[in-house]
Amino acid sequence: MAKKEKEIDARFSKFGTVSFTSTTKVNDFMDKLGQGKVSGTKCKGCGNVYFPPRADCYKCMSSDMEWFDVSGKGKLLTFSKLEYAPVGFENDVPYSIAVLDFGGYKVFGRLAGDIPDSDIKVGMEMTVAPNQLPNGQINYVFQKA
Ligand SMILES: [Zn+2]
Repeated sequence: MAKKEKEIDARFSKFGTVSFTSTTKVNDFMDKLGQGKVSGTKCKGCGNVYFPPRADCYKCMSSDMEWFDVSGKGKLLTFSKLEYAPVGFENDVPYSIAVLDFGGYKVFGRLAGDIPDSDIKVGMEMTVAPNQLPNGQINYVFQKA
């Protein structure tokens, strides 16, 4: 009898320039990204909010989570322009990584590549959107609001 191979949910292998994580407990993130939504999770037990999404709440130990979409405008808290990149991202430099504050949570990510350096100001309002990469991968970027 042929051994049935276990089906592996590797949706996360499509995330980012190079994915270092192919499977997670929050693979639905990728489906939502494909639908144009960047999503985090909220604990139904205590209300704690997570981005990146988590399947388990470290505050109250519940695994009863629900998805929410990152929407509206976030404030640029900080950013850093990278001239030297980690392995796998060499062809992407220069690019800027940044943190947006959405009030109840923060989102770490990249600034869209078409924003001139002179336009980038701490405190500016930005939005987050999925971004299709040339190699078929998908990530999300911050854009001017
Ligand atoms: Zn909780």
